[in-house]
Amino acid sequence: MQCNFVIPGDIVGAAEEFMPGEGTYVKGEHVRATTAGVKEIDSKERSAKVLPRANAPVKLEKGDIVVGQITDLKESLAILRLAFKRGRESRPIHNTEALIHISRIKDSYVKEMRQALGLRDIVKAKIIDDTPTIGLSIVDDDLGVVKAYCTRCATPLKLEGKRLVCPECGQVESRKLSTDYGTGMIR
Ligand code: ZN
Repeated sequence: MQCNFVIPGDIVGAAEEFMPGEGTYVKGEHVRATTAGVKEIDSKERSAKVLPRANAPVKLEKGDIVVGQITDLKESLAILRLAFKRGRESRPIHNTEALIHISRIKDSYVKEMRQALGLRDIVKAKIIDDTPTIGLSIVDDDLGVVKAYCTRCATPLKLEGKRLVCPECGQVESRKLSTDYGTGMIR
């Protein structure tokens, strides 16, 4: 494996042989690494990529889709602890907080945070600000709550039609849902 480790600028493969994938660029006749990591050649798809070292911190940028858990709800802000970035599910994000402002939940007016988000909910969101804190939006249809917990008994809520129902205590709740809700997937 040692020989598969590359640093930025290293040749990963021949440009005429491989499509440049993630972590690479083409310069002249070669596909080269943009990042330090492990090179991976897919001879079937004829692509070359460089996967960053597993212990490297996950880089978060505007436009990234992330998943996190709500740790606090305030009048006009939800605070999340980020868990991972889409496409980097195997590499957890550590100790990173992000915020969702009440104006970034829906296109339409949201009167109360608690109508759209609940404590401990798992949320899929897009990064729209990265300084000084990470700001998120869940306005798009595929963004929003992907798993919600009953505010009365903490059981995961089930989507029945357009209603979120607690299978344990019967409580009916509302959230700004992602179209991924209940699928068990982050698409
Ligand atoms: Zn319940």
